[in-house]
Amino acid sequence: MENFFNDEIEKVVFISEEQLCNLSVKKLYGRYWEDTFIYNIFPASLCDKGDLLCDVLKEGSEPSKEGFCAIRTDGKLSFYFDGKKLKIESYGLYQSIFSRNKGILETDKMTRKRAVILGCGSVGSLVAMELARAGVGHFLLADPDIVEYHNICRHQCGIEDVGDLKINALERKLKNINPHVEISKFEGIVQNLPKAQLDEFCTEGDTVFVGCADNRAADVYANKISIYYGAYFISIGFWERAYAGEIFYHIPGKGMPCYECALGDGGNISARAQANHHVYSNQEDTEGLKFEPGISVDINFITTIGIKIIIDMLNSNSDGYIPRVTNDLKQYTVICNTSNTEIGGEMVEIFSYPLQITTSLVVGFGKKQCKESCSCKYELEEK
Ligand SMILES: [Zn+2]
Repeated sequence: MENFFNDEIEKVVFISEEQLCNLSVKKLYGRYWEDTFIYNIFPASLCDKGDLLCDVLKEGSEPSKEGFCAIRTDGKLSFYFDGKKLKIESYGLYQSIFSRNKGILETDKMTRKRAVILGCGSVGSLVAMELARAGVGHFLLADPDIVEYHNICRHQCGIEDVGDLKINALERKLKNINPHVEISKFEGIVQNLPKAQLDEFCTEGDTVFVGCADNRAADVYANKISIYYGAYFISIGFWERAYAGEIFYHIPGKGMPCYECALGDGGNISARAQANHHVYSNQEDTEGLKFEPGISVDINFITTIGIKIIIDMLNSNSDGYIPRVTNDLKQYTVICNTSNTEIGGEMVEIFSYPLQITTSLVVGFGKKQCKESCSCKYELEEK
């Protein structure tokens, strides 16, 4: 290919430093982009996502007269097209991926952080993807369901994932952001997660449990086990058609009420908020065609606020980290997407304007036995 002046437009090879110097590689996979003349060689762990681009030829081999090839030369790889040597742009994979987080999040610390994603639907998949982008290095994904066509309009996964388990599909998406991410998976509901798997995964102070299953019982259970592991907890749930959502978080050892103390038995939450908590995926089964699910943008707006809280909690012990939201948001936050009654029904009257975030909802110890001692009984339990 030539430009206006008959100068040849050169092809370029993008490859990580690790792969450039890896002498055991026999085949290279990735993508060639015809419009940009770029060969993007994928990291070895993603080879199944790419096309086979070439075999790696032995040291001293002649480059092929036609097409693309790689030859081992002086402990590195050289690339040729139609016999002509190509320019290489190599990069440190890890440093490059997270270069734009620099000065905001400490990549070395983030890579030690761990997230237990309880429910890998529209909410859980977005939380996991954003945490991977923030540099979280370890995920435990729990969900019993498979990806179906009706999930796609609200999920991070797409048509290529339909038919597979959500935990497998999400694992692929996370590896596509950071191939070094470590993933543990459980095909089932929160309440069936084996203790041994949690024991192996959780590290005190570096782990967050993210409750994005579709019911309060799962959140009550998840917060109980997060306390056992000295881990942070957050629940992100939605009201009817996702016109509003609620976020609850718990930091262990700070004398905070847990999910059950605060919300489990009605607690101090208004009856209106209780009545309004419609669980979006269960509703689909019970109400059939009448069900009008929340659209992705409404779910994502509220979920993103939850993700900011998670990043604040995970960095709360880091020197110099400036919290985005936790200094201002109380433990329980209600957020609305609209104040239009045509979407939200009469309940929207509690919000004067759309995109409001409540900062005034204080939750206490609702359970009688917790109330008397002003502390959560699960935190007082011996491990
Ligand atoms: Zn409690």
